[in-house]
Amino acid sequence: MNEIPYKIYLEENEMPTQWYNVRGDMKKKPAPILNPGTLQPVTLEELSAIFCEDLAKQELDDTTRFFDIPEEIRNFYKMYRPSPLVRAYCLEKKLGTPAHIYYKFEGNNTSGSHKLNSAIAQAYYAKKQGLKGVTTETGAGQWGTALSMACSYFDLDCQVYMVKVSYEQKPFRREVMRTYGAQVTPSPSMNTEVGRKINAEFPGTTGSLGCAISEAVEAAVTQEGYRYVLGSVLSQVLLHQSVIGLETKAALDKYGIKADMIIGCAGGGSNLGGLISPFVGEILRGEANYDIIAVEPASCPSLTRGKYAYDFCDTGKVCPLAKMYTLGSGFIPSANHAGGLRYHGMSSVVSELYDQGLITARSVEQTSVFEAAEMFARVEGILPAPESSHAIRVAIDEALKCKETGEEKNIVFGLTGTGYFDMVAYEKFNNGEMSDYIPTDEELAKSLDTLPKVD
Ligand SMILES: *Cc1c(COP(=O)(O)O)cnc(C)c1O
Repeated sequence: MNEIPYKIYLEENEMPTQWYNVRGDMKKKPAPILNPGTLQPVTLEELSAIFCEDLAKQELDDTTRFFDIPEEIRNFYKMYRPSPLVRAYCLEKKLGTPAHIYYKFEGNNTSGSHKLNSAIAQAYYAKKQGLKGVTTETGAGQWGTALSMACSYFDLDCQVYMVKVSYEQKPFRREVMRTYGAQVTPSPSMNTEVGRKINAEFPGTTGSLGCAISEAVEAAVTQEGYRYVLGSVLSQVLLHQSVIGLETKAALDKYGIKADMIIGCAGGGSNLGGLISPFVGEILRGEANYDIIAVEPASCPSLTRGKYAYDFCDTGKVCPLAKMYTLGSGFIPSANHAGGLRYHGMSSVVSELYDQGLITARSVEQTSVFEAAEMFARVEGILPAPESSHAIRVAIDEALKCKETGEEKNIVFGLTGTGYFDMVAYEKFNNGEMSDYIPTDEELAKSLDTLPKVD
């Protein structure tokens, strides 16, 4: 076999020209999203009041397997894609493992994460529809940054509701967004009805993603020419993120490498869903088999300890209901949780794949995640995002198992981004001040008690 280079790049003409919709190959589809008022499946018309029309169509389409990537989006992708698939030779050596470890690095753009892959698509469809602008929420700030970049490229107004605690802790993220022309508001704010309500009910609250989503949706539907866009969870976002998996598979195929294990971190499920989609497609069509592992924080364990049920996607209960693994829409991870991946639910596609046993899930504690991050940074030269480091943790654990058994497995994981804006968390870790918190069964039961009664 050819010597495998450190970085496996695709040529521009080997880049995907279509996104892959894994739902098209699923026999049992994810459950439909429901109108929170009527509890009936949401119609295209209803969804188009919140989302851009083409995106609403993608959201509801669970049969079309491939969607052409419009040329404008492909041209934008060419500025930072294809992203490299890296053979982690140095990490393998450090671990002394016979396993071959590969990571797909999505941090090679200013947003520092994979989120730009969907941001540019969503901004494109908003522009195509002739809208003035879009509204959104951001937690840690990667999505808001990615969307600001995409909106400035297409000359669209961009209004970002940023979870207050991050707004205060990450002033530089905020400035990156403003540099790209976005208007950034700490959430909960006094700009929206739902924000005022949450502030009155929970004075001094530092906010949550679910709450910022409610504010952004309200801002979109109350302004002429605006729609709401979301950076994860939705099936349309998984569709756009399939570019990660398609490139990964093309790069592996180019060198005749067959992955044994594919690992991704899971917050709302978009990078994981995008990375695994083409591989899951092969499993669904009976063409191949892979061990696929979703990794989530022990402090926000929606797949491993949540319930598979219809739930609200946001705290204000204005978004459609989705059937997903959830901890309850009121769930907020404990204050010492540092590393992103704090959403209460999970993509309905990832949830259904998990429920069908096509993928497995693991939860890991944050101190062990930062230990893995540090080891990786020291040998591979990239300072990883805490979110990505959940996948690194499990990739290292699996490579160490191979050391015991002598198996030469091919382990592929998604390195979703860089951690330059997460130095407060790294500082805590370096000072030995980071602790782990695992919610008790009682706490989870309390939060799960608030699930809407649908079934
Ligand atoms: C947003 C983000 C994630 C988690 O989101 P998913 O939708 O689960 O992929 C993971 N890593 C990074 C770097 C992120 O910015």
